[in-house]
Amino acid sequence: MIRQANQFAGQMKIILLRVALCLLGLTCFATPAWPWGNEGHSAINRVAAEKLPPVVPAFLRNAEDQLAYLGPEPDRWRATSELALKRSQEPDHFINLETIEGMDLPPDRYSFYRELEAKREQTPGHPDSLLPERVGLQPYITIEVYERLVVAFREYRQALSERRNPDFAAADAIFYAGWLGHYVGDGSNPLHTTIQYNGWVGPNPKGYTTANTVHWKMEGIFVAANFKQLQFADLVPAQPRLLTDPFQDYLQYLRDSHRLVETAYQLEKQGGFDGEGTAASRDFIRHRLAAGATMLRDLWYSAWVQSGQTSGAATSSTPPASSAAPKH
Ligand SMILES: [Zn+2]
Repeated sequence: MIRQANQFAGQMKIILLRVALCLLGLTCFATPAWPWGNEGHSAINRVAAEKLPPVVPAFLRNAEDQLAYLGPEPDRWRATSELALKRSQEPDHFINLETIEGMDLPPDRYSFYRELEAKREQTPGHPDSLLPERVGLQPYITIEVYERLVVAFREYRQALSERRNPDFAAADAIFYAGWLGHYVGDGSNPLHTTIQYNGWVGPNPKGYTTANTVHWKMEGIFVAANFKQLQFADLVPAQPRLLTDPFQDYLQYLRDSHRLVETAYQLEKQGGFDGEGTAASRDFIRHRLAAGATMLRDLWYSAWVQSGQTSGAATSSTPPASSAAPKH
């Protein structure tokens, strides 16, 4: 009996150890470099919803809670338990603008793939840093989800005009709008536009941190710990801007964000992301979050306007632009 009891106790110890390791693993998994963390992404979506003009349908303006929930949605697709999903969408969260400096980005992802391939062919050593999944696809996923939103808005308008139930189209639009918010939020963070995304690499005369914890330290730990002091809704202009070329406007937004990469490292060096940070670091983060919410509100508003100007009629009957594209 004693031996059995000892065996039982030993087995329990192993089980408890496994549970502890498992929990530890979950804890570690829950805090990788997920941009802006849940708090930042949810807040960007919520503030963008609050700042929508009355011309945008009430179903979207009233969906603040759902939009806030959807802010971190693509980060929920990063678990190793769903490996195909994780790997397929990870390049959507960033773009290394240094790597493609001077390139005139084409309007769709497959043209971008071809241009990167050509550039890689011409580059000595054919570096893997020019593979699409290494460069990142931030502007492409953003414009693709934006266009899904335009389509959902158009279906909503169509349903109303034909006196059909518009609820399904409205539900689609809320999901696309929330999903879009994630990438726009990522883009407002300079560290999502750069090879310096998580610790300085290459020549480092100013002695910036090379620790590969800086990304999460800034976006996750600092933002979550100081969230109340980082409220930013007052920095979002009340008037929306109609984006006449959303892809180009979004690229400019990414370039503007990219110009602040070194500022982020300077602030980190001054202790700006330790504890409560500094006045300058809090101001920096507030303005970045506000830039994200502003661009997101403007994209939602522009998608609504655009949906009333495009018929969508050509989309189903026009053959693929490239003759090489297989027809299914
Ligand atoms: Zn992301």
